[in-house]
Amino acid sequence: MDKIKLATIWLGGCSGCHMSFLDLDEWLFDLAAQVDLVFSPIADIKTYPEGVDICLVEGSIANEDNLELVRQARARTKVLISFGDCAVTANVPAMRNPLGSAKPVLERCYLELGDVQTQIPHEPGIVPPLLDRVRPVHELVPVDAYLPGCPPPADRIRTFLEMALRGEPLHLKGREMLKFG
Ligand code: SF4
Repeated sequence: MDKIKLATIWLGGCSGCHMSFLDLDEWLFDLAAQVDLVFSPIADIKTYPEGVDICLVEGSIANEDNLELVRQARARTKVLISFGDCAVTANVPAMRNPLGSAKPVLERCYLELGDVQTQIPHEPGIVPPLLDRVRPVHELVPVDAYLPGCPPPADRIRTFLEMALRGEPLHLKGREMLKFG
């Protein structure tokens, strides 16, 4: 039987959700027996492939690269999962939204708060332009399920992935499985 094709992507987040994924420790060996990791920041694969079964999306959508990658992932994935509070609500990265559009955010960070040689980074094709607002994943592409937590604890990730691997509906229940933060 073909293994399930699993992907994980890292958008506007701190990588804490991926760190929590790695906290699955020895269960990762069980997981590896059932899935092929076809795209992830923890695997050196440059292009998001076609025909992905499950994708965990960490982070909010904060810049144009995030938007392009999540749209590509949505088009090439059966089950897209908002992985962690930044993906589900935009969370910490959205704290810049009250400053308004991208311009005042860049000026605040790189000019007003800079120490020496202040300048706004600008290198088309290398530095991705910020979007004016940080958005949760489901606001820009359809999402199939939500896995909350900042980060989601490893046992919650395992419960969720076990349900996904069994092909069960992805509905977490109970305070310990659902709470944010
Ligand atoms: S949900 Fe929390 S741990 Fe995950 S990327 Fe956001 S800030 Fe980091």
